[in-house]
Amino acid sequence: MEGVLEISELTHMRIKFMVSGISLAIANGLRRIMISEVPTIAIDLVEIGENSTNLSDEFIAHRMGLIPLCSDGVVDVMLYARDCVCTGFCAACSVELNLDVKGITSETQLITTGNLNSKHKLVCPSIQRLTPDNSTPKPSDEIVIAKIRGNLGLTVRCIAKKGIGKEHSKWSPVCGVGFDYDRENFLRHTVYDTPADWPDDEPWKNIEEDEDNPRPVIDYTYKPNFYFDVESTGAMLPENIALKAVSIFIEKIRELDAAFHTYFDNPYSSSATEGVIPESVTTESVSTPKSFTIFTD
Ligand SMILES: [Zn+2]
Repeated sequence: MEGVLEISELTHMRIKFMVSGISLAIANGLRRIMISEVPTIAIDLVEIGENSTNLSDEFIAHRMGLIPLCSDGVVDVMLYARDCVCTGFCAACSVELNLDVKGITSETQLITTGNLNSKHKLVCPSIQRLTPDNSTPKPSDEIVIAKIRGNLGLTVRCIAKKGIGKEHSKWSPVCGVGFDYDRENFLRHTVYDTPADWPDDEPWKNIEEDEDNPRPVIDYTYKPNFYFDVESTGAMLPENIALKAVSIFIEKIRELDAAFHTYFDNPYSSSATEGVIPESVTTESVSTPKSFTIFTD
């Protein structure tokens, strides 16, 4: 079936698009990959130098980890720390960020992501990315990490690493992904089979059926459109999240395809002609079961 893609809304934080020609399973697979398998960069190690704020070290470390960092253009060339040859962290698998703030007045002072200095010019708190109209973000848009007063202070060294949402939700590039389908309810995925069990707001529950007013039957041939709504955390531009999710999906199918071909080593797979059913199939080509590791990420 020929598929269609229509982008209905695109901002620096959100993309809405409609896809047709795919199944519900594919659409849901895409949604789940966006949530948990598109890699981003997030703070993973926090070394507290001085902390005289009223928040505990663990609390500060947790807050630092949840700050979305711009990952576009960097995360694809960065190595996962587990794949790197270094023993701790290095420039190939991590980015260092530092924060050093001392209270200077008796008034309440905010420590925000604006005080975080990154050693990589592209990997910064996402709020510092230029806004769509290229205006500089306002200081009030920065994420507050802690509040201090007097001579209190906070000194922190952070190491950001590449990861995916399956490991920890701080690496998920989205705050929400959803899709709407079957708006006319042709597939009846939302109602019970028996009208008596339907919820009260089901339009056909209390309508008398007759010849002039027949109740619609389930349309099993109905091919729904999928209306996606993807909201980014700011770690990646929304169009890059969708593009990366599709390429991860394709890579998974390739791995599965290669694993099947290697396993079965099927002579019919290369010589078979489409539409011609072989007269007999033997199982001689199926050798002793082997196992393959796929989908390691
Ligand atoms: Zn390394």
